[in-house]
Amino acid sequence: MANFIPLSVPNFSGKEKEYVNDAVVSEWVSTGGSKVSDFEKVIAEYVGMPQAVACNCGTSGLHLALLVAGVGAGHEVIAPTLTFIAAVNPIRYANAEPVFIGCDDSLCMDPVAVERFCQQECEMQEDKLINKTTGKQVKALLVVHVFGNMADMEAFTRIANQYNLVLIEDATEALGTYYTSGPFAGKYAGTIGDVGVYSFNGNKLITTGSGGMLVSKHADWAAHAKHLSTQAKADELQFKHDEVGYNYRLTNLQAALGLAQMEQVEGFIAHKHKMWNMYKQALDGKNGYRILDFKDDTTRPNKWFFSLYLEDERHNRDQVIQALSAEKIQTRPVWALIHEQADYGKNQVFTVEKAQDYRAKIVNLPCSTNLTEEDCQRVIDTLLAL
Ligand SMILES: *Cc1c(COP(=O)(O)O)cnc(C)c1O
Repeated sequence: MANFIPLSVPNFSGKEKEYVNDAVVSEWVSTGGSKVSDFEKVIAEYVGMPQAVACNCGTSGLHLALLVAGVGAGHEVIAPTLTFIAAVNPIRYANAEPVFIGCDDSLCMDPVAVERFCQQECEMQEDKLINKTTGKQVKALLVVHVFGNMADMEAFTRIANQYNLVLIEDATEALGTYYTSGPFAGKYAGTIGDVGVYSFNGNKLITTGSGGMLVSKHADWAAHAKHLSTQAKADELQFKHDEVGYNYRLTNLQAALGLAQMEQVEGFIAHKHKMWNMYKQALDGKNGYRILDFKDDTTRPNKWFFSLYLEDERHNRDQVIQALSAEKIQTRPVWALIHEQADYGKNQVFTVEKAQDYRAKIVNLPCSTNLTEEDCQRVIDTLLAL
């Protein structure tokens, strides 16, 4: 019988057990212990930032990012509709509202549409960008580096400067992605805007089971995020708190996993590149398939998730997923557009046609960092036989 090929699973072939065992033996299993600060240092160094703030997931990290950026009631945040809903829900947690914009061919938010929205739908009143339809202040731009592909940070930085917007990077899928040329050469996804967030959920490039990390070019924002994530304690002994804080802390156990994972991160990325190349060469331009590109010419992407694009009527997304599933191969469609779900139907939407097309025609292929060549070939053979 053929084995099950999962979409994306963790890879614990390093020192995970050893480090977690250290934490258990030391009895530092909760939010105290040295591994949390060690893990913060390792991530900060890896992405080239002076500090990083650990939190219990990417979603809480994004909530903190919005709070330290000053996003609150009465504000709007420009955000993509083609992304995981955890990128957008924190806008609501912060009592602000998203305005949804579509994507370009990188699957990331389309900077041309964002610029047109700012130009045509908004006006500057003193130093504030005001949405002419709602009368609300557009406070921030939330960019997601979809599947590890770098969003157009040159354009988004320029737009943020021109319209006085805070630039927030959801880099939850893009740990390790960096520019190799242009004005941001050497800069990592998550470190270019005002504040950025990574995730270590089970399906991400590295995992701590659940976890996240926030970085900011403003040292006081990072410090404020740390404060808010630890119940905003002002006096440890007296239990005095100077703000409404949160328990968004990472545990020492989780950080132990993270430290072991980070020792392997470049190997994980190299494996992702190898498997992506295998799919690209075998499937791109064949049998009605395309394998969507990453920005390999200007960046070193982490290639977290692979996108098979169904070019024409030869294939139907859900039938392809079903046919693969019958062969014990797990795949999935790209996310349902956010403006069509939950409570987001009443929010403003701007140029989402391309996002609708990609939503209808993308199937994400198995991409684990322990995917074997044999299994990758089986996925390829199954697809070519459809
Ligand atoms: C995974 C993910 C998140 C949330 O991260 P969690 O650690 O699962 O809370 C947010 N945004 C995007 C785009 C993601 O893929």
